[in-house]
Amino acid sequence: FHYHQPVNEPVLSYAPGSRERKALQEALKTLKSKTHDIPMYIGGQEVRSNKTFTLRAPHETAHEIGQFHVSDRSHINQAIEAALAARERWANTSWEHRASIFMKAAELLATKYRFVMNAATMLGQSKNAFQAEIDSACELIDFLRFNVHFLSNIYSEQPISPQGFNNRIEYRPLEGFVVAITPFNFTAIGGNLPTAPAMCGNVVVWKPANTQVLAASIFMQILIEAGLPAGVINLIYPSGSEIGDVCFNHADFSGIHFTGSTGVFQQIWSTIGANIGKYKTYPRIVGETGGKDFVFAHPTANADAVVANLVRGAFEYQGQKCSAASRAYIPSNLAEEIKSKLIAEIKTLKMGPVDDFTNFVNAVIDEKSFDKLASYIDNVKNSNGAAKIIAGGGYDKSKGWFIEPTVIEASDPKYVTMCEELFGPVLSLHVYEADQWEATLKVVDETSPYALTGAIFAQDRYALEAMTQKLTNAAGNFYINDKPTGAVVGQQPFGGARASGTNDKAGAPLNLYRWLSFRTIKETY
Ligand code: GLU
Repeated sequence: FHYHQPVNEPVLSYAPGSRERKALQEALKTLKSKTHDIPMYIGGQEVRSNKTFTLRAPHETAHEIGQFHVSDRSHINQAIEAALAARERWANTSWEHRASIFMKAAELLATKYRFVMNAATMLGQSKNAFQAEIDSACELIDFLRFNVHFLSNIYSEQPISPQGFNNRIEYRPLEGFVVAITPFNFTAIGGNLPTAPAMCGNVVVWKPANTQVLAASIFMQILIEAGLPAGVINLIYPSGSEIGDVCFNHADFSGIHFTGSTGVFQQIWSTIGANIGKYKTYPRIVGETGGKDFVFAHPTANADAVVANLVRGAFEYQGQKCSAASRAYIPSNLAEEIKSKLIAEIKTLKMGPVDDFTNFVNAVIDEKSFDKLASYIDNVKNSNGAAKIIAGGGYDKSKGWFIEPTVIEASDPKYVTMCEELFGPVLSLHVYEADQWEATLKVVDETSPYALTGAIFAQDRYALEAMTQKLTNAAGNFYINDKPTGAVVGQQPFGGARASGTNDKAGAPLNLYRWLSFRTIKETY
């Protein structure tokens, strides 16, 4: 039995006057009209604690979204117990029945809950309507449907032997529980990291980033409505250090599905390493971490294409995609044209709260991020000419965490903002001598420890070929004449190597194999 390859969920436009725009505005208004009391979901039950954390809209910090109930160690243990109690029955449920739950969740998202999920992502994570639509609607729906499709292919793959005995492979879930730790920046990743292992028959303890809790908890309710049995996925809100202490010390810990910072992932890996003798089985470690994603323009590049894709790649969702363009290399022959067009284009970008659909730029996620970005910008202002700000550079936290789309021009290609991940709407740009383009590729490759995404621009086919070869290991998602963001499930499997992660490609069969343990069975007749 096969699920056919799905079609990617169409992106709604939210054009002025459209039905969907009205519905989304209504959903946003309803969501804002009350403060939300957000429970944990353990063993299918809502669980509340006596400690809460207040959520505020990043673009309107005066607006209190609500509170979630903070988990302590006892809740983490309860979540693990609920998961383990559900495990045997879930693991032995036929694949088709498991799949139909996630297909139904996709359907509920596409129809009944599309606008409330988008509104929650807009309000809680400060995304504009389009950014929310491609994330909490389309990408999340795609993850569910495509993973079901990929998994149906995997389950039906069998080696055939004509040798007088029968070989088959049984695809078992891992023995134990999987931990999903999810970031603030994509509701879709929040949904994918627990559901991909769960589809394969695993049970999961899920901890989302604080600033993702509103959307995550709505998605959890959708899964429950779709028929997810109690305990298969347990949603809790502990601190990062407590979830680590409890889960990575547990004999039944069998895997982690992570998206977040390189530092945290490395810490998790060390903890798992230090505890390796305690586990029943070697845990699967799957993580997508940081990036310092490049745009390299060749002397034959089309300047307008470079500008358009820099604006979208660097500033959509305030540069808070792991894939965002954050360093650009511009050839001297095109430098003046690209810079002046880029500066002019940035001036047209409106910044403000999400309720006004004409705002392209909203707020960065929180005060910590705001302070970090502001301090890098200040350092450029005080850098005595080593780098200068050629667009933006302003910031204001009086109403929300607003950082203007900013371009820094660095004469030194190794200037700090060309190397470090800032995770915000700040693009660093270096102009290189056009006849040195090949030598500059080496700089691109060696400047950053990361290898998540990158984009090259040229009109010369030989140059494209040379750049593609020279940058073989510089990016897990490599774009030619396009922005480095916006990977589509089923079209561009996503992930990078080096310090950017284990490159197990979200939204691809490879990722699902990581949540399966094979039993090879040979029967002799
Ligand atoms: N998949 C997203 C993209 O292609 C980025 C995911 C992330 O930020 O982790 O833009």
